[in-house]
Amino acid sequence: MDIHTTKKLNNGVEIPYLGFGVFQIKDGEETVNAVRWAIEAGYRHIDTASAYRNEKSVGQAIRESGIPRKELFVTTKLGRRDITGGTQMQGFETSLNLLQTDYVDLYLIHWPVAGKTLECWKVLEEIYESGRVRAIGVCNCVERHLDELRRNSKIEPAVNQIECHPHLSLQPLAAYCEKHGIAVEAWSPLGGTGGKLLNDPVLKKIAEKHGKSAAQIILRWDLQRGLITLPKSTHQARIIANTDIYKFELSADEMQAIYELDQSPQRSNWGDPNLIDF
Ligand code: NDP
Repeated sequence: MDIHTTKKLNNGVEIPYLGFGVFQIKDGEETVNAVRWAIEAGYRHIDTASAYRNEKSVGQAIRESGIPRKELFVTTKLGRRDITGGTQMQGFETSLNLLQTDYVDLYLIHWPVAGKTLECWKVLEEIYESGRVRAIGVCNCVERHLDELRRNSKIEPAVNQIECHPHLSLQPLAAYCEKHGIAVEAWSPLGGTGGKLLNDPVLKKIAEKHGKSAAQIILRWDLQRGLITLPKSTHQARIIANTDIYKFELSADEMQAIYELDQSPQRSNWGDPNLIDF
């Protein structure tokens, strides 16, 4: 396994397990630099969203990288304003324009919105059928959302992107997704900006044993769980360090010790999808 190792989605499209997240990176130089450093470090998967307001700089960094577009896996997301405003198709086209590309690899509904999600899914299906996205999926869905979506869709979601890290390991939801062929992507894998996860003493002890950082231990734990993981950083040294996760292995006991750090149902401030109707 290395930085180029991919997972096969339910429609056969290959997605790199390691992606570079760009949430809260400022549009302009900060995003251009971060994405450039990520691509130089070997990342071939970038995760952005219309809500992050940095698609233009992501597009610029991709174009300037000189890496052929087809060697990169680009995800963006349909934001709440277009979901509630009925402007899903326009939202998608705006993302394509900002990213300066004629397709995205993965297009996701950013959050379910009560009474609107199924209607949005139909638009995603239409975009998929037009060939301008290689796969479609959702974020922040729990089992009952996915049940309803699967019952009412022509095309099953390829991905569910969820808050997931050692303090919120969501094993039952991950097992549900695996059973139904939906790939799980972990957002805020390092506990998010301003989080305390990286100071966890259990992670630090395992890290010390392997001569790694707590961040590298978590990202390795994600890989061994079979999850796609999306660490974000604006620091070149960290962007590089977060790729150094392939040449060691966590034992079954270490994996278990990390699962035991679970603090469910505690979550980040971004919200609890269990409270959202579909
Ligand atoms: P992460 O869990 O990736 O954590 C980012 C924080 O960790 C930043 O403060 C970063 O600091 C720091 N960090 C990164 N690497 C290291 C390291 N090696 N050592 C120490 N600190 C480090 O948080 P995000 O919330 O950004 O989540 C990751 C991605 O997931 C997002 O960027 C986005 O793509 C996606 N996401 C999706 C959501 C959704 O609803 N679908 C919601 C939230 C996130 P610094 O930058 O200063 O290096």
